[in-house]
Amino acid sequence: MPIRVLSDEVASQIAAGEVVERPSSVVKELVENSIDAGARDVQVETRAGGKRFIRVTDDGCGVPAAEAALAFHRHSTSKLTAASDLARITTLGFRGEALASIAAVSRVTFVTRSADEPVGTLLRLEGSQVTTHQESGRPPGTAVVVEDLFFNVPARRKFLRSERTERSHIDAWLTRYAMAYPALRFALSHDGRAVFQSPGNGRLRDVLVAVYGLEIGAAFLEITPGDALSASSIHVTGFVSPPSLHRANRGYITLFVNGRWVQDGRLTYAVIQAYHTLLPTKRYPLAVVMVHLPPEEVDVNVHPAKSEVRFQDGDVVFRAVQRAVRHTLLERSPVPAARPAAAWPVSASPADQERRERARLLRPQSASEQLRFEEKPPEVGAPDSGVLVPAAQRLPPLRVVGQVGVTYIVAEGPQGMYLIDQHAAHERVLFERLLAERARAGAASQALLEPQPVELSPEAAGLIEEHLEVLTGLGFQMEPFGGTTMLVRALPALVAEANPREVLEDVAAALLTGDAPLASPVEETVARHVCKQAAIKAGQVMAHAEMEELIRALEQCTSPRTCPHGRPTMIHLSVDQLAREFGRGSG
Ligand code: ADP
Ligand code: MG
Repeated sequence: MPIRVLSDEVASQIAAGEVVERPSSVVKELVENSIDAGARDVQVETRAGGKRFIRVTDDGCGVPAAEAALAFHRHSTSKLTAASDLARITTLGFRGEALASIAAVSRVTFVTRSADEPVGTLLRLEGSQVTTHQESGRPPGTAVVVEDLFFNVPARRKFLRSERTERSHIDAWLTRYAMAYPALRFALSHDGRAVFQSPGNGRLRDVLVAVYGLEIGAAFLEITPGDALSASSIHVTGFVSPPSLHRANRGYITLFVNGRWVQDGRLTYAVIQAYHTLLPTKRYPLAVVMVHLPPEEVDVNVHPAKSEVRFQDGDVVFRAVQRAVRHTLLERSPVPAARPAAAWPVSASPADQERRERARLLRPQSASEQLRFEEKPPEVGAPDSGVLVPAAQRLPPLRVVGQVGVTYIVAEGPQGMYLIDQHAAHERVLFERLLAERARAGAASQALLEPQPVELSPEAAGLIEEHLEVLTGLGFQMEPFGGTTMLVRALPALVAEANPREVLEDVAAALLTGDAPLASPVEETVARHVCKQAAIKAGQVMAHAEMEELIRALEQCTSPRTCPHGRPTMIHLSVDQLAREFGRGSG
């Protein structure tokens, strides 16, 4: 085909695709415009998950009649004039693309009145073409109605998900803005049903209560930045969950940079890092973290959807977030006794010393932790080697009494009664057996089918490069591949099936904190296997001999009290407790 310049219609639909992916993108862009317009009250209404109808109404500054049509031209904005302004963005919008993009792929009705003018303007557009332009009465502010999204882009329309899914994306955006702007009142309704409202009283905690409910909202700890930060130009505010409150994924860590919601793996990791040793493995905190820094220190013009940012100095921001959260946790909630963990050998190169010092600064300062860090470890490789198991963790010999609910085994020990979850117990037994088997297999290396370039965070890349030799000894084969990329040729056999990027990030996290570099990815892989293999299910009748066998195997475990996912395998009712329950006085 010969080269041709695309028609305006095709070009604008292509460009629109980058900004408007689904109904929630429309909501996001319109709400951003309302916030930029200084609104105090923002109402969002949708029908059919936003596919048929979206209306955003605000009481902001409105658009003067003479400029209303211009607002729909591509690259028309009132928020930016010179390229140099890009270095200091203080508004959510600045690309002048949203209204043009939305109008290219839907039917839009735009009613607006500037506070300085006696009468407003009504504009109607269909696929970028203005079909109506007239005067209209309305109070100062703006209302935008977007109907039949993608009516002229069938390919996109096909990719829209169920109404429920689209609604949940809209909910997510609205709650994000409610959290970022507690002084504004946001209201959301779907198909005429009010689903969310923020009070607009300026208090973030009240927004959190509206988003997460009373119990979780009240449990959140307010971030109290430590002294170290008061002189810095970076301010970190917000709320984080106490260590007792956690979730199975990172999805509850919400980050804002200068009032803009951002997706940033590294800052998310900074929050998780701050909980190091405070949370069960594979559990993640809830957090709403606002980073404030001078606008010239962050580039928001990375992507049309503007949810990625680039920092002038990412390390400084990482540390500021990690320290503020850590400080809050240490100050506001007691630290449980440090979990014994395998340390690993560190060479004493100057770079290493520096890294150690840095790691020390990032780590809790309790005496026992300090000790562990100074210790020289026995050996590397076996993930469980060097782990001290406190005697209290071990199980006493138990006598099987019977089974209840074909799910639990009742057993008796010297300290009372034990109710054991048969499935969880079996998972634990298999988990430790598999771990031991794999550790015996040693540091075998398994080549990838093809060498794979893996891009890492600068922090992780630095740590990994520095410890390349140790990691080679563990079965890694990789080399620096320019920038923060490593070319991975082989992984330790223990984690060969895992995603190389995740393995390396986990290893870097362990290097930073002084843990055994492979413990967590190995455990994760093994835990996955165990889930598939665990044969004894709840609801399965067990013969007495089978129960005996399971309990004997559990007694051999180093951590018999939890399954590999951290759930309890057993409930213990002590003799004392039983006596109390029966009113026999204590002991
Ligand atoms: P951007 O927000 O990047 O400037 P948009 O296409 O979203 O680009 O909006 C274009 C312009 O229209 C804005 O710069 C602003 O002047 C005006 N505008 C859009 N929505 C509103 C609103 N709700 N209230 C006041 N002005 C608005
Ligand atoms: Mg905008």
